[in-house]
Amino acid sequence: AVAVDVQEATTPSIQVSFRGDTRGDLAEQSLVNKLIRRALVRNRNEVEVLQRDPRSPLYSVKSFEELRLTPELLRGVYNMGFNRPSRIQENALPMMLAQPPQNLIAQSQSGTGKTAAFSLAMLSHVNTENKWTQCLCISPTYELALQIGQVIEQMGTFCPDVKLAYGIRGNRMNRGIKLQEQIVIGTPGTVLDWCTKYKLIDPNKITMFVLDEADVMIATQGHRDQSIRIHRQLTKDCQMLLFSATFEESVWRFAEQVVPDPNIIKLKREEETLDTIKQFYVICNEKEDKFASLCNLYGSLTIAQAMIFCHTRKMASWLASKLITEGHQVALLSGEMEVAQRAAVIERFKNGKEKVLVTTNVCSRGIDVEQVSLVVNFDLPVNMEGMADNETYLHRIGRTGRFGRRGFAVNMVDSDCSMDIVKAIEHHSVCSCFFQFNHTIVLVY
Ligand code: ADP
Repeated sequence: AVAVDVQEATTPSIQVSFRGDTRGDLAEQSLVNKLIRRALVRNRNEVEVLQRDPRSPLYSVKSFEELRLTPELLRGVYNMGFNRPSRIQENALPMMLAQPPQNLIAQSQSGTGKTAAFSLAMLSHVNTENKWTQCLCISPTYELALQIGQVIEQMGTFCPDVKLAYGIRGNRMNRGIKLQEQIVIGTPGTVLDWCTKYKLIDPNKITMFVLDEADVMIATQGHRDQSIRIHRQLTKDCQMLLFSATFEESVWRFAEQVVPDPNIIKLKREEETLDTIKQFYVICNEKEDKFASLCNLYGSLTIAQAMIFCHTRKMASWLASKLITEGHQVALLSGEMEVAQRAAVIERFKNGKEKVLVTTNVCSRGIDVEQVSLVVNFDLPVNMEGMADNETYLHRIGRTGRFGRRGFAVNMVDSDCSMDIVKAIEHHSVCSCFFQFNHTIVLVY
């Protein structure tokens, strides 16, 4: 596990979602997000609830007391600093704790309280008298499984009789024994082995199955299949709970396979808006010229915080070192860095210790940094075909909430081709227009 310094939140939350192409990337993004997060992500949208039985009353709770938790568990929840259920928890918790058990599929962006919700559900579900595994939770990677375990351990501080085991590679168990831990959390491969090959767990006795990060899970065929195989071992009375940050068609098809007759809870991401962002483009000739233009901007960059986006790692490290040579202080966030290193850089940026962050295109796709007031697209966002990537552009510069702080976006144009990209982006973001500047830009805050 990676230790991260946890301090009081002084700046608004930032969220990183490097939307990479492989499961490894996705899982790493998710881990970085977890490592840097200290508070709930704000979301003012309404929760959408689809009940399996639409005639049954819809329960939602405004306090943890209403859930009738044991005093020990309630104490654990408050001890974590949770005062009231989050948006998604208001509806998800009563469903997960209902009798008879109900299946649930829940989708909301990362940071909205899903892990805390199912951790609470598992802790509340176990019968400590019974010394066998009752709750099984699977997660895409070793590190993510450990993160969940930490939440369970912390929330269960005052429930010493609840025991937890980690079904992760390297955690060797003797064949032939049966685990006494009521909760097992692990990765699909090891958990499947523990259920089938080693028989450490009796799948017939599992009464709650949690599948976390379904979208990340299905990005690997192996994990997808192992999850389904674990699911097949379970009885039909076992309560199935599935969580995902996104809900594309493929996630949905998978979810339906592992969660029969589900209740469904969805919380839409807050819309990003460009209303408060002024957008510019600067005409340059080549990268040295872009650099000169960036240096002109530098005074403005450091007034608040700025992010500079490049297309490749090579370009990002070239730019960062050139800026440093010029005597500027910048931080580099790049894809080849270890997760812990990345988290540390983001943390420093978040705390205002770094004012300027240079980042690679892949690494930065989808970073939402609310406190950043200036975004420089040193290279414009393009997709694999080299066409304008409008979605990434919006993610880079968009703000959540109508009353988001004012911001600026500066796009460096260095060829006819990149001019076409700027035009395409401008055309796409209908309600905003771009202002053209030639080299010297003065941004008035
Ligand atoms: P997700 O699983 O959706 O990414 P988490 O459960 O990890 O979200 O929660 C995100 C952050 O919010 C964590 O730091 C967690 O401790 C905190 N959190 C979760 N639920 C609550 C709550 N009800 N009140 C306050 N903070 C919460």
